[in-house]
Amino acid sequence: MDRDELDSALTEGRRIAGSTPAQVSVDNPGVADPSAQAVRAVVSGEVTGVGFRDATSRRARELNVAGWVRNRDDGTVQVHAEGEERAVAQLVEFLNGGVPLARVESVAVERVALEGHEQFAIRGVSAGVFVVQEHAATARHFDLRLEVDGVMRSWAVPKGPSLDPAVKRLAVQVGDHVKAHNAFEGTLEGGGVIVWDRGSYEQGGRVAWPSALDRGHAVFVLHGAKLRGGFALQRAGRGAKAQWLLIKRRDEEARPGSDIVAERPESVLSGRRLEDLIRPSPG
Ligand code: MN
Repeated sequence: MDRDELDSALTEGRRIAGSTPAQVSVDNPGVADPSAQAVRAVVSGEVTGVGFRDATSRRARELNVAGWVRNRDDGTVQVHAEGEERAVAQLVEFLNGGVPLARVESVAVERVALEGHEQFAIRGVSAGVFVVQEHAATARHFDLRLEVDGVMRSWAVPKGPSLDPAVKRLAVQVGDHVKAHNAFEGTLEGGGVIVWDRGSYEQGGRVAWPSALDRGHAVFVLHGAKLRGGFALQRAGRGAKAQWLLIKRRDEEARPGSDIVAERPESVLSGRRLEDLIRPSPG
């Protein structure tokens, strides 16, 4: 996956339906700070697998610098840092020689636009598991569940997920489930459940989770068998069964015009379709 493209997909939430300029400025306190600046740095050398990301995020937090750090596929480490000018400069200085076991050969720094981050995150690490279960109950739907703080936060998606970024799918927030339910597949109260997709996921965005969910905008990367790449959940209404929109982000994993639910109806556990499970047995 093109990580730069993914980073921007993971970061920007401003073009999502429902976000207004007013909300953006509330979400971006850093932008109001006239001394705030943002840089992107690429650190080359022996920098991966030596605690570089951990050390960088600790130092960033000490300096009150927001942004993220990630390992890139080419063996370099990339950092987005924003905050008070002097603090950002101190973090760049730290990248140049502050990490004990690293052997830094070069640090390429460029000024970039402020993005309004409110945390310093390590990107590209699993935040837990996700599962999508297709469920025949009163109505057929798909249940998207993301592990957050040990429980599965859940949304019922009537039409199921899409890999087409132009498609916005209604996702109704439902009660949390226990992780033990993730592997459940079988008949249930006259209907049935299959495990339609599952895997791990990464949390993204400018705001730390679970606060991002509380505030109604969460971006994440799925590593499933069918669903891959960046997605956004954007809350469109409030209440006990709040309505959200599930949207595929534009990245290398996006498949415009596709219909993954129709193309891949089978369980990733058993290969069975939900129809096979709930069809009344002959005779
Ligand atoms: Mn359900």
